[in-house]
Amino acid sequence: MGAHSIWVLEYSRSPVHPVSGVFYGAHNQGTMNLPFAYILVKSGDAVVLVDVGHDAADFGGQIANSIGVTGWTDPEVVLGECGVRPQDVTHVILTHAHFDHIGGLKFFPNAKIFIQKKELESWMWILAKGSRFRCLQAGLNPADILYLTQANIEGRLELVDGERENLLPGIHLYPAFDTHTAGSQYVVVQNGKGDDRIVLSGDVVYAYKNLNGGDDNDPCFVPPGLANGSQTRLIESAEEMLGMVGNDERRIIPVHEEQLSKLYPSRVTERALTLVEVCLADGERSRV
Ligand SMILES: [Zn+2]
Repeated sequence: MGAHSIWVLEYSRSPVHPVSGVFYGAHNQGTMNLPFAYILVKSGDAVVLVDVGHDAADFGGQIANSIGVTGWTDPEVVLGECGVRPQDVTHVILTHAHFDHIGGLKFFPNAKIFIQKKELESWMWILAKGSRFRCLQAGLNPADILYLTQANIEGRLELVDGERENLLPGIHLYPAFDTHTAGSQYVVVQNGKGDDRIVLSGDVVYAYKNLNGGDDNDPCFVPPGLANGSQTRLIESAEEMLGMVGNDERRIIPVHEEQLSKLYPSRVTERALTLVEVCLADGERSRV
């Protein structure tokens, strides 16, 4: 119990995601099931989404199709499982600008949007470099970057420059620069005192195996395979996250991790999507 409720909301999945995209160096190891999800944090009157999924109807949907993503479900239905409507979302925190994290922004017209300044600048740079640099554009829908500029004109965008403690009381943003993307960030939710925290890792950590190599007795970091930044920086950021939670891996929430539903209370919705309840604020009712 604490001040925040956190749910991980699956909205689609890829049953055929290359293992090598999730674990660096995992060549010729075939494919795996990869859930696609965003995270709802309710904190006092604030309704926060950490990432927003993609829109199946635009170019993000084409990217999704090209990598085998299926079962896309409208945010109205996904959030409805927790009694929240898209228009109720007050804050959107973007961990990074890959299509499956940013592409659903248009569904949340009343939210103020928070992204690292470096993330926006780096994508502008990559896009300006043209097609020879398209390797670095993997996972980007350029229209999402345009959407950010439009949101800025509407006064709904705030560019975060590095650490931002207490964006909302007990909700902190930390940069993980030059990792999965140039301007990735992760979110720390302070629930109780000390290291009673939950870390929302974005794609700096895709899955627990990134933290332990799949061996609890002799753990080692295995960074994600898909990265515009460096493997070293990915590992350093993962170590930093572990430090935030007293080395309790379970309190790091990787959004693409299938095992979350076994670690936390969960249920499968009518749309066959998994809803994971990480914690509940005092007085909040369970949705699982
Ligand atoms: Zn990503």
